[in-house]
Amino acid sequence: MAQGGRVPTIAEVGERLGRTSALADDVSHLRYVSGQRREALERLGIRRVRDLLLHVPHRYLDFSCVAPISHADVGQEVTVVGTVDRVKSKRPRPNLQIVEAYVLDQTGVMQATFFRQPWIADRLKVGTSVALSGRVEFAYGFKQMKAPFLEVLEGSGEGGDSSGEGEGRSSRARILPVHPVGEGISASWMRRIVSCALADAGDVCDFLPPELVAGHGLMSLSRALREVHFPSSLATAEEARRRLAYDELLCLQITLLSRQHLELGGITPFSHVVDGPRLAAFRGSLPFSLTREQEAALSDILRDMAAPHVMNRLLLGDVGTGKTVVAGAAIAAAADGGAQSAMMAPTSVLAAQYAQKLGPLLDAAGVSWQLITGATPTEERRRAVAGVASGEVSVTFGTTALLSDDVAFARLGLVVIDEQHRFGVDQRAALRRKGPGADLLAMTATPIPRSLALTIYGDVSCSRISQRPNLGAGVTTKVIPPERLDLAYGAILEAHEQGHQAYVVCPLVDDADDGSELDDVPEGVRSSAKTVHSASTTQARLARGPLKGLSVGLVTGRLSAADKDRVMDDFRSGAIDVLVSTTVIEVGVDVPNATVMLVLDSDRFGLATLHQLRGRVGRGDCAGTVFLECAAKRGSTARKRLSALESTSDGLELAELDLKLRHEGEVLGYRQHGGVSLRVSDLAVDGDLAQAAHEDARRVADADPELSAPGDLALGIEAQDRFGGYFEEVERA
Ligand code: ADP
Ligand code: MG
Repeated sequence: MAQGGRVPTIAEVGERLGRTSALADDVSHLRYVSGQRREALERLGIRRVRDLLLHVPHRYLDFSCVAPISHADVGQEVTVVGTVDRVKSKRPRPNLQIVEAYVLDQTGVMQATFFRQPWIADRLKVGTSVALSGRVEFAYGFKQMKAPFLEVLEGSGEGGDSSGEGEGRSSRARILPVHPVGEGISASWMRRIVSCALADAGDVCDFLPPELVAGHGLMSLSRALREVHFPSSLATAEEARRRLAYDELLCLQITLLSRQHLELGGITPFSHVVDGPRLAAFRGSLPFSLTREQEAALSDILRDMAAPHVMNRLLLGDVGTGKTVVAGAAIAAAADGGAQSAMMAPTSVLAAQYAQKLGPLLDAAGVSWQLITGATPTEERRRAVAGVASGEVSVTFGTTALLSDDVAFARLGLVVIDEQHRFGVDQRAALRRKGPGADLLAMTATPIPRSLALTIYGDVSCSRISQRPNLGAGVTTKVIPPERLDLAYGAILEAHEQGHQAYVVCPLVDDADDGSELDDVPEGVRSSAKTVHSASTTQARLARGPLKGLSVGLVTGRLSAADKDRVMDDFRSGAIDVLVSTTVIEVGVDVPNATVMLVLDSDRFGLATLHQLRGRVGRGDCAGTVFLECAAKRGSTARKRLSALESTSDGLELAELDLKLRHEGEVLGYRQHGGVSLRVSDLAVDGDLAQAAHEDARRVADADPELSAPGDLALGIEAQDRFGGYFEEVERA
């Protein structure tokens, strides 16, 4: 491509290619990156130079927009500009050095305090003009900022900002990037090494085909990398970020599609029979007729199943909307054509519940079925595995026990994954590999926006059920502080008197639990209170104290599958009055007699999880009450998040709010499975980019599935380099 209007020399092209390939170098190739710092970067997921350049600022300080000191209100984050009037260095403790500066503008005085940065005193010469940015506090009669961001504007020999050398550009531009940092890395050091990396790798080849760059009016890659870190305006910074986010989403889509292409090489997808006798009999034996939405979802599914391509369909529907029977009908249709089905649930309790609900309907339709979970006795399991292998048994319900190597299907044509978000990418892939060309029906009660669905599945179609066939009596949700737990205990005792049951949900299994099974709710949106309730301690405490006289049971993920089933049976039969548990009861458990639920430390859970949890009560004729205990103060983000549950019962609305509040990776549980995490894109705001990237990837891959044409080569290599390794890892696992 012409550079500056002339054709570049071969030497220039060579240099540029060299810089481009240097993006894949280890960060330790950069100046200033030594052993410990390298480790600190690694903790942020930054291993290569490109990772560093895609570690984009989470905010910017705009020094071009400043407040007069008299208008800087206490408690607010502001930027002020003034002249250094006085500087003091102190050492109140042997290992604590403090620099205090008094900065004046026409309207007032701001005191700035810097900790453990004695060198700052040298840069704050009296008379120097500086900008300070931070939260305003009030102490000893002064407006004050503790450890503000500092930029020396003029009057000092160095003309830089607090991040030191090599950044003349940012100080001229007056917009300072603030990158996410961690232990062992300061914001200013991060700015410095990003600046170094840009100097080395700033001018690189663009891997995007030029028609995509032009079609979307995108910035060039080199410019985007520069502008996202050291922008000339906030608007350009966002434009740059969007270019990089598009790249990321496109690379992910390209990778997903090319994996699909590889997996399907030479395989003929199933074309199922969808008007056979078993499906008709299944429908005939239902004790109710399907709702209009269930019918619509089923006809989407049957259309995909009949077509000679692989179905990739997501069935979205809140708890209790009746997804299970829709899946049952699809399974009956698969059996009509002689194909086997597998239906996987995240817990053995739930898998057993399918068997219980769908089993009789399948029996009536003449479709054979069985159940394989971790609790299945050896002999029974041996028989079940034989039935899978011979193709004699049509339907196998189960948990991840289905993923074990000895479960090999003769002719697996339909894979149903319920509560799909509870499984990792690797687990979903492992089940699909047991049926090359099999159709996939994934179900979830955690509504995910289309952008997110595309990002996980590549090609996916969605069907949605929003109305419940049985409204039940409904649920009231109340957030309570720890001091008012008596309200919840009172409600549980009262329910018990009326013959009803209750759940108490805790975030931890026992006191030794490190919480690694917890939903990872970021610190900013939960309270920092240390008291985290464990299920086993809570069971003992309640049985001795507030719920004395009631039979209080315990179920956690730590129990063996057989023990779990036993406890659940006791709860279902009423032998247990109050069930203390972790989130193992989150999904699908159906005990209509339970009317009260108390969730302890509720701020530790995601909104989607809490919404699913509360769907466990109020299922029958009696209204349910859910108490969400939370130590966070009124007005805190943690409290506001929970209040959303008090005011809405719409799962989709909550999911979207959750997505905004939490990183998408945490919502999906990507992080647990390592590897695929999105560095730049934020699906809460980049939904349109996800859609565009999906369509573009589809077009590129349809025209050139191997990405071998000269114009696609660079894109293919980039995508493989960014995400390919992850998928290979998943497949080996
Ligand atoms: P989901 O899996 O979507 O949470 P389920 O499939 O467990 O919901 O259905 C919830 C309840 O509604 C079940 O007891 C089921 O039998 C019942 N149900 C499903 N479809 C209908 C319908 N069309 N009419 C009446 N009841 C239904
Ligand atoms: Mg369900």
